[in-house]
Amino acid sequence: MTAVTQTATPSMWSEAELAEVRAALAQEVAELNADILRHESEIASGDVTKGAGDDQADAGAKTYEREREIALTLNARDLVAQNERAIARIDAGTYGVCESCHKPIGKERLQAFPRATLCVTCKQREERR
Ligand SMILES: [Zn+2]
Repeated sequence: MTAVTQTATPSMWSEAELAEVRAALAQEVAELNADILRHESEIASGDVTKGAGDDQADAGAKTYEREREIALTLNARDLVAQNERAIARIDAGTYGVCESCHKPIGKERLQAFPRATLCVTCKQREERR
């Protein structure tokens, strides 16, 4: 065990940088929410309006299309949750700190993956499970 002397707010992020990351995340949340709404209306309208042709192949294609829309929506919802979590971490002053080992995640990693909550080491450990 090494001594844990890190504070909750890593000094490597300036206020301006955090504000920038936060704005980008919030922007993405807005775009994703718009996507979700669009997909949901497509899913809903697909059920109601396109019920005319109901032969087997057509139904199969529609089911596939519908499932794809649902998968996209779930994926978008997941991203929204991750973004909102990152924003909450910025607001709480814990952004950039690994949730598992509480060491700084690393600025380069966060610039590539702004939603990352784990450092590379912990992430790799988690993926091996
Ligand atoms: Zn870690």
